[in-house]
Amino acid sequence: MAENKIPYKIYLNEDEMPKAWYNLRADMKNKPAPLLNPGTGKPMTKEELAPVFCEELVEQELDDTTPYIDIPEEIRSFYKMYRPSPLVRAYCLEEKLQTPAKIYYKFEGNNTSGSHKLNSAIAQAYYAKKQGLKGVTTETGAGQWGTALSMACSYLDLDCKVYMVKVSYEQKPFRREVMRTYGASVVPSPSETTEVGKKILAEHPGTTGSLGCAISEAVEVATKNPGYRYVLGSVLNQVLLHQSVIGLETKIALDKYGIKPDMIIGCAGGGSNLGGLIAPFMGEKLRGEADYRIIAVEPASCPSFTRGKYAYDFCDTGMICPLAKMYTLGSSFIPSANHAGGLRFHGMSSTLSQLYADGLMEATSVEQTEVFEAAEQFARVEGILPAPESAHAIRVAINEALKCKENGEEKTIVFGLTGTGYFDLVAYQKYNDGEMSDYIPTDEEIAESLARLPRV
Ligand SMILES: *Cc1c(COP(=O)(O)O)cnc(C)c1O
Repeated sequence: MAENKIPYKIYLNEDEMPKAWYNLRADMKNKPAPLLNPGTGKPMTKEELAPVFCEELVEQELDDTTPYIDIPEEIRSFYKMYRPSPLVRAYCLEEKLQTPAKIYYKFEGNNTSGSHKLNSAIAQAYYAKKQGLKGVTTETGAGQWGTALSMACSYLDLDCKVYMVKVSYEQKPFRREVMRTYGASVVPSPSETTEVGKKILAEHPGTTGSLGCAISEAVEVATKNPGYRYVLGSVLNQVLLHQSVIGLETKIALDKYGIKPDMIIGCAGGGSNLGGLIAPFMGEKLRGEADYRIIAVEPASCPSFTRGKYAYDFCDTGMICPLAKMYTLGSSFIPSANHAGGLRFHGMSSTLSQLYADGLMEATSVEQTEVFEAAEQFARVEGILPAPESAHAIRVAINEALKCKENGEEKTIVFGLTGTGYFDLVAYQKYNDGEMSDYIPTDEEIAESLARLPRV
């Protein structure tokens, strides 16, 4: 197809939208390591996971053989409110960079939660409702997941209790109000409302919290209240499964125009948007049908892939959750409060960790100031004010496009633009005032945290 026929935005029709999620694990020769019971050291069974997670989500979590799982009709109709999301050809950015590279981005920020998180929130809330539960508990870092879950719960008439990392609770009061508008209750974490919160506060007085702390609190509340279960917005296999809708739509849109990407780039916090975006492409790679460069981008302040260790670790600070084998900085690692983006989790999806260990994808880390430079450049030419998380992917996409310019290569780059940055204006303000710092943990700090990994 001639180059000039490719529109700025490639949309799909409703009937072209995926009818099933794609479970990447089915095509992996080396399966992601199972979750372990920290007490027995044995793989978690359905029965052991059932008090924490919804039944059907446990099935999805443990299923590493079924390649396609139907998207229930109720979820598909909710998706239709804000999907398909556009795949945008970044003509203006290409022009600005004077690069021969062709740049595309899949934009997930077109909903009130402002991110891709709604794709999994509606699925998790749907299965909770189907099981007849009263409500769900969760943690939220930057606030996008809590917002997405509040939206899904209010739609399905479920109660929603959100433990929000204290630093975000204080920095992002407006995010909190969106959640409350959708009927969620929002508690700053660590809090005095749980045993584990009290313990963390006693050990680290004045802490601004971390996702790991908030997870511990939310799990405790879910397991102590009948009719409640815990839901998580990233990291887990089930979340990557739901997020595969991003990659499937991207693939359908690219195929329409016969476009083959050379590289696919995404930011990585817990790995859900990246895992979803790359799913069908990685599937082709695993089956030997195609090859792509796949690049995970993480912040230099929380570098799980690039400086962490591939080992079993707790997902939470309170050490009450199952153990997951993943690239981790250690569950006691608390990233600097300076860091503006929501990519602050100490570990990484076990699916992506296995793919990375097997050399099937790359990872790189970038510093905060260069991320905001990229965000500013992108906003000025493409119109969208990106979330700081998303801007990690923009930074590396721009770097790669500039390399193409140097080498005269016409590569095709696809990156995930996971969300918008309207609630991140304190960070933008710091950047605009020249007060942004690039905090990078020392080797000693990381070693100290890794020394406390559980022995398995
Ligand atoms: C949560 C979030 C991320 C990071 O989470 P992943 O699970 O790694 O995708 C990235 N971008 C935005 C906008 C987010 O809300």
